Order: sequence, then C-alpha cells, then structure tokens
Amino acid sequence: MSEELQAVIKIRDEFLSISSHELKTPLTPLKLQIQQILRMLSQSTAWDPERMQRLLNTSNRQISRLSKLIEELLDISRISRGQLQLELDRFSLSELIEDVTQRFGRQLEEAGCELQLELETDLIVNWDVFRIEQIIVNLLTNAIKYAAGKPVRIEAKRNGDFVSVVIRDRGIGIAQGDQNRIFKRFERAVSQDHFGGMGLGLYIVSQILQLHGGTISVESELGQGAAFRVEIPANGPQAASTSVIQAPDSALCASPPN
Ligand code: ADP
Repeated sequence: MSEELQAVIKIRDEFLSISSHELKTPLTPLKLQIQQILRMLSQSTAWDPERMQRLLNTSNRQISRLSKLIEELLDISRISRGQLQLELDRFSLSELIEDVTQRFGRQLEEAGCELQLELETDLIVNWDVFRIEQIIVNLLTNAIKYAAGKPVRIEAKRNGDFVSVVIRDRGIGIAQGDQNRIFKRFERAVSQDHFGGMGLGLYIVSQILQLHGGTISVESELGQGAAFRVEIPANGPQAASTSVIQAPDSALCASPPN
C-alpha cells in the first residue's frame, strides 16, 4: 500500500474515531435525562414541574448539539463531493447578526460572555443568507467555547466593495504556529480532554467563504484572545445566482484497495 494511501486511511480512521466519540458525548446525558423524566412520570406523586423543565431544557441542548454535529458531517460530505451550493439573495447583514446574537442571548449569558456589537446599519449584501448565518454561528459558538467568562465583540462594516465582519474574543487564543492549520479539515489546537469538537467548523466556514469569493484570517496570541476577520465582496461571487466550484476532495473520497 502506498504511503499516500496509508496516510489517507489514517486520517479517515482518526476522523471516524473522533466523530463517533463526539456523537456519543451528548447521547449519554440525553439518555439519562429521558430516563429521569420517564421515572418522574411513572411516579405521579413526585411531579416537580421545575425539575421537569430543567431536564427538558438540558435534553434540548444535547439534541441541538447532536444536530449541529450531524449538519457538520453532512456539509463535509457535500464539500467532498463538490456539492456545496450557494443560493444568493439580497439581505441586511446587520439585521442577520442582530437576529443571530439575540437567539444566542441565553447561551452568551450562561457562558458569562458580555456581547458588544458595532454594526454599520444598512449593510445590504448579496450572499447566501443560510450559509452566512452558519459562519456567524460557528465563529460565535467558538468564541463562547474558547473564551467563556470574557466579552465577545462583533464588528461589521463596509470597506469599498467588500464587507468585513470581525468576531473578537479575549479567551485562550491560538499560538502563531497553529494559526494556518486550524482552517484545515480535522485540525485542532486544543486537547480533546478540555474542549470537545471535530475540527470541522473552521474548515466548513472557509469553504463557504471561498464559494462567496471571500476570505477568513485570524489574529491571535496564546492566552490573549482571538479575532477572526471575514471579508466578502458585498455583491457576492461574480457568477450567477448559484455556484458549485468545489472539486471533489480526495482525502475523504479515496477508498482502500480491494
Ligand atoms: P472545533 O472547535 O470543533 O475543534 P473548529 O474548526 O471550529 O473546530 O476550530 C478548530 C480549532 O481552532 C479549535 O479546535 C481550536 O483549537 C481553534 N479555535 C477556533 N476558534 C477559536 C477561538 N475563538 N479561540 C481559540 N481557539 C480557537
């Protein structure tokens, strides 16, 4: 077997091991919570509505985590088959960021992250609203995860033909030597024991940006927080309303020899 093929199989095996671990992590508490709810319901005298609400809220969070992981896996599969498509639409980026951050209010509060917004109004863009929301959600989720207890700032403004969005946190930061590789598939700069994750979010973000004709970069120092800067032409990619530009990704498409 060639060295290249061995490397591909190793990546795939590591990926299967990490992704099954990640998928299993929310399932275990979810199962326990459902069992507790069932027990409570069977003992009709011990009905505690507040406790029930807490259990259901936590279950709901675990389900959201599971669906996010599954969405990431589906996106990876779309990217590797060259089937990630954009549907361009005109919308207000400032409104979208306000909507997303409002939805994240509770999560930000629970993590102790004060949110600061500096959004230019009337930032009308011609992008794929669903995919751009995915980028903001991803970067915001990372800020909450890697900078709990610290403020998070989002800035959005026009720079000539481009619109830039910066998501800045004051968390654990990223060492200089890791700053390029974290945008690649499966690459992580933290230990699995301290922070869960599959190392796919930033890779998917950079693929979506590539389709939009945009870029992402990071400025950071270890222990000093991180600022992720996204820049996209306001009018979107030059192509028509839909584009499919990804070539199939060999590492996940390759299969072992018979
Ligand atoms: P995941 O968070 O699931 O590992 P990502 O692709 O979103 O995957 O991020 C890749 C890696 O980049 C993370 O494992 C982490 O090491 C680093 N990283 C991303 N965002 C931040 C951040 N805001 N602060 C510090 N490190 C970060």
